[in-house]
Amino acid sequence: MLALLLARWGVGVTLLEAHKDFDREFRGNTINPSAMEILGRLGLVEKVLKLRHAKVRRFTVQAGERRDTFADFSRLKSPYPYVLMLPQACFLRFLAAEAKRYPNFRLVMGARVKELVQEDGVVRGVRWRDPKEGLIHEVRARLTVGTDGRFSRLRKLAGLEVAAGSPPMDVFWFNLPREEGDPEDAGAVFRCGRGRLLVLMDHFEYWQVGYIIPKGHYARLKEAGLPALRRSVAALAPELAGRVSALGEWGEGSLLSVGSDRLRRWHRPGLLLLGDAAHVISPVGGIGINLAIQDAVVAANVLAKPLRNGHLSGRHLRSVQRRREAPTRLVQAAQDFAQRWVVVGVLSSEEAYRLPLLLRILLRVPVLRDLPARLIAYGAWSVRVVED
Ligand SMILES: Cc1cc2nc3c(=O)[nH]c(=O)nc-3n(C[C@H](O)[C@H](O)[C@H](O)COP(=O)(O)OP(=O)(O)OC[C@H]3O[C@@H](n4cnc5c(N)ncnc54)[C@H](O)[C@@H]3O)c2cc1C
Repeated sequence: MLALLLARWGVGVTLLEAHKDFDREFRGNTINPSAMEILGRLGLVEKVLKLRHAKVRRFTVQAGERRDTFADFSRLKSPYPYVLMLPQACFLRFLAAEAKRYPNFRLVMGARVKELVQEDGVVRGVRWRDPKEGLIHEVRARLTVGTDGRFSRLRKLAGLEVAAGSPPMDVFWFNLPREEGDPEDAGAVFRCGRGRLLVLMDHFEYWQVGYIIPKGHYARLKEAGLPALRRSVAALAPELAGRVSALGEWGEGSLLSVGSDRLRRWHRPGLLLLGDAAHVISPVGGIGINLAIQDAVVAANVLAKPLRNGHLSGRHLRSVQRRREAPTRLVQAAQDFAQRWVVVGVLSSEEAYRLPLLLRILLRVPVLRDLPARLIAYGAWSVRVVED
């Protein structure tokens, strides 16, 4: 997104992506109203809506027959009052194709960054390795932006200090087949039972299933065995009972360790980190993609002109962090709250879980009931694209 925005401003951008394609399993697939409004401002919404998607208007927690809505997007005053479920690979291909329309944009796939180019303490670019040729390539730049996600190499190379949080869970992801008669456009469905929590994501050809476990409990899950996991999934989602055997071995799934942290400083001379590289976001609420897109928009708003005019200074990098740090902290605090109140509540409950009474009451109070939907939709507040 940042590369696209900068390219629109006429800034020369080289985007390096470690993988050969964007087709990776188990990435978030949500595009929230804030991101839709940004795409709207860029004139891209109609094209995005032509890609295969589902629209989710409510996030609900279902326990047995009981269903509690905790975020109702249909009540938002937005032209896009829903969360768009769109496979992320599809969305990234789309953004890359849009950026390629600008001659000053260059995308290099399969370019894994290995080193920073540094001179007199200033980052001047990066070196990446071509796995086929084994050759090291160098890209020099006035500004290097690290958006390399939650295992950011650039963060480590830059030696930036981290303040870590500790979400109480991990997620075991796997796929189950879709069958005729399954609900169309089901979006995301959360199910909880005694001490168990499941999320089902509709990927049109298959269901992506996230089985949420207490942090560090994967060994226990494996010890209990696949048949026990299949039984548990079938109990939470009886409509999938006939196909849980499609999960044939542990290797067909993948354990995603859930993290959450934040850099104390997001920049060094010549270098800025954004998105998960600057602040790892837990999957709770599906907000991380939104936040990363908002980072990109604010960064482009602040940096595009000085980059184009050759007047970029540390002041501009500090300004990006200043504008994005408070909303990031707020979202992480809200996620922390939800993790303690809901996720820990579900995972430790002996009974079939229901949202705590106080929370259910709060969710009926007019001024409060829209807060979760607003937070998921916009983060702490919305951001606007500044045009040239
Ligand atoms: C299990 C799980 C589920 C989630 N579900 C959701 C969800 O439903 N909705 C949501 O909004 N958020 C979700 N999140 C959070 C979300 O995935 C992240 O917050 C978001 O993807 C951050 O975007 P990003 O661009 O900063 O990083 P990423 O999306 O991680 O992108 C980083 C990119 O950098 C590339 N890269 C990495 N290293 C290098 C290198 N050395 N050189 C070159 N390229 C490199 C990677 O290949 C990748 O393409 C989830 C997180 C987890 C762990």
